[in-house]
Amino acid sequence: MIRKLFKFPGGIHPPQHKYESSSAPIEKAAIPRRLILPLHQHIGEPAEPIVSVGERVLKGQKLARATGYVSAPVHASSSGMVVAIEDRPIAHPSGLSDTCIIVETDGQDEWAERTPFGDYRSADASQLRNAIRSAGIVGLGGAGFPSYIKLNPTSGKAIDTLIINGAECEPYITCDDRLMRERATEIIAGIHIIRHAVQARAVVIAIEDNKPNAHAAMTQAASDTDFEVLQVPTLYPQGGEKQLIKVITGRECPSDGLPFQIGIVVHNVATAAAIHRAIALGEPLISRIVTVTGDGVRQRRNMDVLIGTPFNNLLDQCGGTTPDLNRVIMGGPMMGFALKKECVPVVKTTNCILAATQDNVAPPSYVMPCIRCGACAEACPVSLLPQQLYWFARAKEFDRAQDHHLFDCIECGCCAYVCPSNIPLVHYYRYAKSEIWAQEREKEKADLARQRHDHRQSRIELAKVEKEARMAKKRAALKAAEAKKKAAAAAGNEPEANTKQDEIKAAIARAKVKKAQSDGAPKNTDNLTPAQQKKVDEAKARRAAAKAQESQQD
Ligand code: SF4
Ligand code: SF4
Repeated sequence: MIRKLFKFPGGIHPPQHKYESSSAPIEKAAIPRRLILPLHQHIGEPAEPIVSVGERVLKGQKLARATGYVSAPVHASSSGMVVAIEDRPIAHPSGLSDTCIIVETDGQDEWAERTPFGDYRSADASQLRNAIRSAGIVGLGGAGFPSYIKLNPTSGKAIDTLIINGAECEPYITCDDRLMRERATEIIAGIHIIRHAVQARAVVIAIEDNKPNAHAAMTQAASDTDFEVLQVPTLYPQGGEKQLIKVITGRECPSDGLPFQIGIVVHNVATAAAIHRAIALGEPLISRIVTVTGDGVRQRRNMDVLIGTPFNNLLDQCGGTTPDLNRVIMGGPMMGFALKKECVPVVKTTNCILAATQDNVAPPSYVMPCIRCGACAEACPVSLLPQQLYWFARAKEFDRAQDHHLFDCIECGCCAYVCPSNIPLVHYYRYAKSEIWAQEREKEKADLARQRHDHRQSRIELAKVEKEARMAKKRAALKAAEAKKKAAAAAGNEPEANTKQDEIKAAIARAKVKKAQSDGAPKNTDNLTPAQQKKVDEAKARRAAAKAQESQQD
């Protein structure tokens, strides 16, 4: 049966530039002298180091553990020595640094013990998810969402379709294309595991029709399965999760919802291959395929790269950069971002290093005023109003931007691509989002401070009330004692020494009697040594002499 395909709104056809690297087979990149392993390579909380500086580590050894539900551990990509745990520049649009574990490799590439999972078909889905979590696997299509969470649909809704995303719609990037051509059986094996974990009724593998070789290889590898290997028309941004769901099933994912809420789970082809390696071979995620391309690098390649390899090291392995290199971009020209430094490391989400010349990226052009042509709205795959979002972001009217679904924007860049006024629209959306996040963080901080202040105030109030109660109780006791004393006096009885003052007087009297009874003789005089006895005798004699002198004077 031929499946009916649907179309998502908008979309564009930018020049593909796939041919520059799509014919380059996957090559293993060399082990760098130093691996730089950021603790935060995924969506969610950063990992927490469990190794120390000076420790020797083995390939595949866990270096940092996940710290929350949405988090992922980090493993050593090769054997060597941990030489530092410190802030280093990372691949992020901000150009900021973040904590990284630095491993000086020893060239031995010695593996830690690997424990394959065994027969996953007879295992419980939660055991499978734990193994995948422990292997540090995150979505390799670019988002970096911890994969085990997507294997745990919590809505209680059955998963009817598992979609495997081989669209790779962004220009220049060919890593998934090469992976499907060369490692199709690994991907298919990974899909079986994912299907078992989510109990999906049907599996659809979607590949854009500009990758016929990948489609052929996947069809061949899936020939003895019931998986549907589907060609979808090339249209950017087809690889977006919600766009692909729409194309294949015609269903709309809710604006702030997740695909499993409509019975669908989507995983990338590279993620499926990584899951296979984790379960079948016991290998954590320590490497990935990276496309190195653009006119700014001498040899365009698809490399199997150890996570943590510095970009400049990888560019050197590709013959180095050309003099007309303009900028190095992580990702593609549409959704990628230019790096401030090239010493940043390859992370789990690095699918492409685009060494771009001025010709490879849109030339700088004058930004002109918005002419309200509406081209941006027509191109938007999420049916947003990019022009409105632009005005709200510019005017810092962030509430209104949110009312217009700013956070549904996938930053695909279609709107900016078609804008005749060359307005860098996505920059405005990123700016607005980061401002909103910053405001939310500030609000959270202020709320926390207010809560702490309120707690402190109520503690003080409580202590005050308790003190007041204690004092009242004491006053009442004193009053009762006084009344009792007066009543006894009125009845002609001697008052009992039960008031505080009476007790003090009685204690003083007892002390006086004791003193009077004392003969001033030293205490603890048993078992004295002769020397001690002599001193005691001398003291006694001095006291007697002093007493005698006192009596004579009297
Ligand atoms: S495409 Fe550009 S000029 Fe046209 S409405 Fe959108 S922002 Fe304005
Ligand atoms: S960047 Fe955002 S607003 Fe622009 S087309 Fe893409 S989803 Fe729409």
